[in-house]
Amino acid sequence: MILIAYILLGFTGMEIVSYCVHRWLFHGVLWRIHESHHTPDHGLFEMNDIFSFVFAGISMWLIIVGADTMFTSPAFGIGAGIALYGLLYFIIHDLFTHKRFMPFKSDNWFMKLVRRAHQRHHQDAGKKGHEPYGLFLFPYDKYPEKKRNKSG
Ligand SMILES: [Zn+2]
Ligand SMILES: [Zn+2]
Repeated sequence: MILIAYILLGFTGMEIVSYCVHRWLFHGVLWRIHESHHTPDHGLFEMNDIFSFVFAGISMWLIIVGADTMFTSPAFGIGAGIALYGLLYFIIHDLFTHKRFMPFKSDNWFMKLVRRAHQRHHQDAGKKGHEPYGLFLFPYDKYPEKKRNKSG
């Protein structure tokens, strides 16, 4: 059971870390790298992907370090939680929202809500940036689905 708690800790911790890093570093001193994600017309990869590899590396390192003590040390669970976060981030942010690599469509309300909120972040392409900086944690009532005009 404690393993599940560590996985949840890794997952939520990663959302909080990525919010802070995105808001104060990516849209700050690391803007030169993150800018590649805010400018259209990049190739298959963008400079910003470096950050994904850094987080994946930390996650793998924690999993390997924790592997032989997986039920006694928090490292394995936290590493697995970060990996789970990265996987969902990749599916919802990269594939679904930005249509990279293998884009797919979905009518899932939560994925569409995350997409609407994240598109709001992308409306401000400048260094200063705009909320929401987190992918999953934002005020859910702030990004309602646009009602279609039935008379049209
Ligand atoms: Zn994005
Ligand atoms: Zn950004």
